[in-house]
Amino acid sequence: MRVSDDRYTRDRSRLDLALRLIRHEARTFTIRQWTGLSDDRIRKLYRSYVKSHEARGVLRHRGKSPRQVAFFFRTPEINFQAAQLASLFLMYGLVAATPAGLEARYRLGALDSGALLCLAYEAYLELHAPARISFEHAWFLLAALARRDEMSVGRCDACGCLRLRDLLARRRLACGSCGPAPEPAAAPVIALALPC
Ligand SMILES: [Zn+2]
Repeated sequence: MRVSDDRYTRDRSRLDLALRLIRHEARTFTIRQWTGLSDDRIRKLYRSYVKSHEARGVLRHRGKSPRQVAFFFRTPEINFQAAQLASLFLMYGLVAATPAGLEARYRLGALDSGALLCLAYEAYLELHAPARISFEHAWFLLAALARRDEMSVGRCDACGCLRLRDLLARRRLACGSCGPAPEPAAAPVIALALPC
């Protein structure tokens, strides 16, 4: 009994996570990565979700996933929102700050990590209207930070806020908090999100 209960609970959590990802307009590939569900099962879930919620606003994205870290440095606003997302990733324990830089603490395909990623993204959505960063870009940001080959985080010398650092140094932007285009709601959150 216990084994089948566990299996039922796990299957249930898998479907819950898939639905949550569908609501965030994640790509089928991303949903498969995080839930292990087949493309066919995801398509059926998507169809039943749209039917039952009349979710006309939910889009299904096709084509390639985001691949360019340049996106996060495109404008001060996006740069600032991305730095906030990075703070939330730290706060939710998806990455950890170590002397060598950020280290991944999520496990791709683990349901609890997938749920944390959704929580972090949902917290980000609460803070920003309009939110400039899609779920796909948020996931790409997390993976890029964990890879540590193109992006990192550091503190702004002037205000101490977390900011993104382009390791290839092609783009240097002013801090999103004390530089151009600051967002008023941000300061307390950043302070909360920064592990010392
Ligand atoms: Zn600053």
